Amino acid sequence: MIATVTLNPAIDIRYNLPVFQLDEVNRVSIVDKTAGGKGLNVSRVLSQLGIKVTCTGFLGGKSGEWIADQFPKWGLNNQFVPIQGNTRFCLAIESSEGHTEILEQGPLIEENEREEFLKNFDRILDTNQYIVVSGSLPSGLSSDFYRQLAAKAKQKGKYLLLDTSNEALEKGIQGNPFLIKPNREELCKLIGKKDATLEDMILHARAICQKGIKFVLLSLGKQGALLISSGRVLQANIPTLTSVHQVGSGDSMLAGFTYAHAKDYSIEEVLKWACACGMSNAASERTGEIDLSQVHYYLNFIEVKELTGGV
Ligand code: ATP
Repeated sequence: MIATVTLNPAIDIRYNLPVFQLDEVNRVSIVDKTAGGKGLNVSRVLSQLGIKVTCTGFLGGKSGEWIADQFPKWGLNNQFVPIQGNTRFCLAIESSEGHTEILEQGPLIEENEREEFLKNFDRILDTNQYIVVSGSLPSGLSSDFYRQLAAKAKQKGKYLLLDTSNEALEKGIQGNPFLIKPNREELCKLIGKKDATLEDMILHARAICQKGIKFVLLSLGKQGALLISSGRVLQANIPTLTSVHQVGSGDSMLAGFTYAHAKDYSIEEVLKWACACGMSNAASERTGEIDLSQVHYYLNFIEVKELTGGV
């Protein structure tokens, strides 16, 4: 059983415009609306992999209702905590000039809502072996909130996988989650070195693992990924894709990892599944969606090798 945590979900609206003109009226004919937030992307991919997923976090207002209405379509079990505030909207504008995003901060979480969530989280821990926790923290929650969740999971012997950044990641690590999934930029920030080399990153990731985290899954976009534990470093090389919509690839990767680990595949296979799901999302127009036959196809072309010397 797998659960996901999305504390600050959003209705993601994507406008496709031939040209985006500032200071002008821009009319759109194609509007794409999805239930967003990194944890919900993970949930959709897990669901496409055939897993029954329980989702939790906070939802409020009409926008929260809209998101909840999408869950049956994806077969997701809704365990979100209702809140007074309104779930946010996030806007992405795709045009020939590039990609522009406008992100609302999201609602304030009240103390009673936080307490309700924690009670709910304890129940979820009792019935799920894996908990995937993704994204930023909404206001009202302290920056060590993920540390608390990770520590609770560890205490109950559950696998908590954490994908976040900045202070939430820095503090979250102290709760010893099973895995963290930074990308290059996030790991550089964590180790406080803007231009860290891969060797630097491996060294630091190993040091993090020695403190009690089992895996650091370092995603490297089109360059594949590294899976680091205190004793081993595995490198996945992936084939090149021609057309790429990268948003959500990290979330899809985390879903692939969790799925394959829960199936008890070898760790090399788990890394391949993670990369294949990330690639399939990158090859798809939609965020947090994969094509299962494509995933199986990509698995044949991903090479995993053990790094003993340099990178
Ligand atoms: P996001 O924040 O957009 O979800 P991320 O930065 O967390 O993404 P990435 O490192 O970009 O994660 O991608 C995760 C995985 O997805 C990669 O390890 C790779 O397997 C796959 N992937 C991403 N981009 C590409 C690409 N351009 N070509 C092939 N595969 C890709």
